[in-house]
Amino acid sequence: MEFYVAPLARLIEQFEKLPGIGHKTARRLAFYVLSSPIDEAEDFADALISAKRLVKYCEICQNITDTDVCAICGDTRRDSGVICVMESPKDVISLERTKEYHGLYHVLHGAISPMDDVGPEDIKIPELLKRLNDDTVKEVIMATNPTIEGEATAMYIARLIKPLGVKVTRIAHGVPVGGDLEYADEVTLTRAIEGRREM
Ligand SMILES: [Zn+2]
Repeated sequence: MEFYVAPLARLIEQFEKLPGIGHKTARRLAFYVLSSPIDEAEDFADALISAKRLVKYCEICQNITDTDVCAICGDTRRDSGVICVMESPKDVISLERTKEYHGLYHVLHGAISPMDDVGPEDIKIPELLKRLNDDTVKEVIMATNPTIEGEATAMYIARLIKPLGVKVTRIAHGVPVGGDLEYADEVTLTRAIEGRREM
């Protein structure tokens, strides 16, 4: 970094913090920013801050939204009797793309992982349980990733929910073990949901 003037070094450092960006790419991006017009840089900075300020979690399903209640939870045509539990908002986008699922969602924002010091209270499990207080929900589909953490999280939640008299199902193993739902194709995802089994 000693080769760069301080403001440039700072910019490179910021780019390097982004996932998948190494020093070389960070340097290339920083030089690109320097060579582009000031209003382009201002637009970029504004988009960054706005996204961070305006995007929040839906009061009900914890998915990302810019309103208090997200468009999916607010859609009365959707089946409020089914909740599909997923690890990340990216998984919801993948399943929405199939257009085959018409229930609601719940986003955990992670999975239980003792190795990474993530316990049940660190993800949105209490918020899920709160949604099961009335008799509206008949089925909860555990669509966490087919990883050790995802399976453990599904088991943990199933154990909490079953005594409430709600049916708990687990998606079929159409998705490769250790894989990420986010990257599963639409046919695989649809099959995984359709082939779900009671836990
Ligand atoms: Zn929502």
